[in-house]
Amino acid sequence: MRSLFRRARRRSLMPRLLAKRASRRAPSVVGVCGVCGVKFAASRERQADAARVLRVHESICPGGQRSGRVAMPFE
Ligand SMILES: [Zn+2]
Repeated sequence: MRSLFRRARRRSLMPRLLAKRASRRAPSVVGVCGVCGVKFAASRERQADAARVLRVHESICPGGQRSGRVAMPFE
């Protein structure tokens, strides 16, 4: 009886948790390094910080080919 109840509760909680995570934590790309092509992404709250990190990275970028990669400094 008890395990049945637990399972039902978990099932009703799951979609809500997943939806919340997707909408709050989905990072969006703030920019691309002009040297190596790596993308920088961050959640909405950290966009400004990520853009700053991207500028710093660009100034010290070791080069190479990293297009297609995504860096998320705050995740
Ligand atoms: Zn770079």
